Amino acid sequence: MRHLYAAVGLFLVGATSRGYADNAKENQLKEFIASHVAKVKPLDKEANLAWWDAYTTGDPKAYDRNSELTLQIRRIYSDPTEFAFLKELRQSGQVKDPLLARQLTVLYNSYLANQIEPELLKQIVELGSQIEKNFSTFRATIDGKKVTDNEIKAILKEETDSAKREQAWLASKQVGTAVADDLVRLVKLRNQAARKLGFDNYHTMSLATGEQDIKELDKVFADLYQRTNKPFAKVKAELDQILAKKYGVAPEALTPWHYHDPFFQETPMVYELDLDGCYQDKDVKNLAQEFYGGLGLPVDAILAHSDLYEKEGKNPHAFCIHIDREGDVRVLCNLRNNEYWMETILHELGHGVYDKYLNYETPWLLRTPAHTLTTEAIAMFFGRLSRNPAWMQQTLHLTEAQRVEIEKVGGKYAQRKQLIFARWDMVMYYFEKQLYANPDQDLTKLWWDLVEKYQLVRRPPNRNQPDWAAKIHFSTSPCYYHNYMLGEMLASQLHHTVVNQVLGLKSDQGVSYLGQQKAGQFLRENVFEAGNLYPWNEMIKRATGAPLTAKYFVDQFVK
Ligand SMILES: [Zn+2]
Repeated sequence: MRHLYAAVGLFLVGATSRGYADNAKENQLKEFIASHVAKVKPLDKEANLAWWDAYTTGDPKAYDRNSELTLQIRRIYSDPTEFAFLKELRQSGQVKDPLLARQLTVLYNSYLANQIEPELLKQIVELGSQIEKNFSTFRATIDGKKVTDNEIKAILKEETDSAKREQAWLASKQVGTAVADDLVRLVKLRNQAARKLGFDNYHTMSLATGEQDIKELDKVFADLYQRTNKPFAKVKAELDQILAKKYGVAPEALTPWHYHDPFFQETPMVYELDLDGCYQDKDVKNLAQEFYGGLGLPVDAILAHSDLYEKEGKNPHAFCIHIDREGDVRVLCNLRNNEYWMETILHELGHGVYDKYLNYETPWLLRTPAHTLTTEAIAMFFGRLSRNPAWMQQTLHLTEAQRVEIEKVGGKYAQRKQLIFARWDMVMYYFEKQLYANPDQDLTKLWWDLVEKYQLVRRPPNRNQPDWAAKIHFSTSPCYYHNYMLGEMLASQLHHTVVNQVLGLKSDQGVSYLGQQKAGQFLRENVFEAGNLYPWNEMIKRATGAPLTAKYFVDQFVK
């Protein structure tokens, strides 16, 4: 069949003047793409392999090899002549073929993000690593004695004496005071770079290169704010009652240090919920393997290439990597048979099936997920199942009484966890937006105004320190945090679509996805195989019938 089309194509080109091959701009772009991919593809694969070696072995040589290769790739994308060529092609409006136009957009954005002048870039990178180093070497103190992050966390989880909690919370903020001035300088340098490229500030530029529009995000977050206001206030009031009683203070007297982590981004553990017991006699790897197999999305080849268990020198966290965009997908985990690692392997294999089941006919440049938020959404979609009562009952062969028990506690826990995170993420989004818009304003005031508005946590009296700067993401992953929340929303939107439209059910009560090949097929055909053929929100619209909305997140978690 392919042969026949080629012959017809040749005939048409000869016979008409409007043939596809006659478009000079498109031909130039095709040539550019061919030579660009020939350069980048092998480097990308080598860099990924070096990364894999570094993280599985801890070998410093592998780390060096990875940074050297990453630098080589970056050099390609920072070439100003090639960028000018792409810009000119874009402005010409002559690239009409949708597949070529999409590749042009993806190329243009990658080059744009790397067009910062070398001297300015050097300053940004150096100041950035300086701050990062301060974060990793800074040691907080309580009463002049050094304390580690884990010690601070333990006090905030367990201590019942308010004065001791206050000391620990204050200690967690000391790093903020140490890095804040540098961080504001870094923000201004980033802004300077963005303005030279024609953007208002670095925040708007980062969003634009990730195909996100500030008005679009403002709308989504304003909607999320409206929809979560009442339920969050209710959950927060219940929580405050419990905490106030525990710490022997009035609910109105609760302060930021009465919550269980320095930023109130997680659920205080005030409910008995021990799911680990359900997993300790099982094999989380086998459970995940059988589950994905049952969806018609087998992960055997991924697991065969993966590094799943703890060992000396290996990175203690977890990730998924697609080495070559040709199907060599690997997962790094440090599995133990408990709920945390059940969630983690389901999550990482969610990234894994997205990569594994991309369409390999798609041009290399578009053979990726549509956005980090979309692959995060798929990972969350599956990761959430480790606490899902129906999934647990069927997977772990629990009794009806056990399921009811998990539902009672787990449902409340999930609701609280999601609402608390949503409100916290809003603080991060709005703070970062305003930080880059005007870094000279009173940032301490801005921070606490937002915390009071979104998290309903009162500012401590007479406190005038840059507590916000203690959040490392402002330094190391700028303008990214909002994507976690967008991923959660998309996970819920996909869940809604699969439950209602694909499985034809009226509610998600009892839905476990076990053995649901139709669900696997839907995700494969509408999300994975779409790769990066469309901007992320266009893909979402095609898959679910509507652009990203907070509605289904609230439907799922606020009952
Ligand atoms: Zn992830």
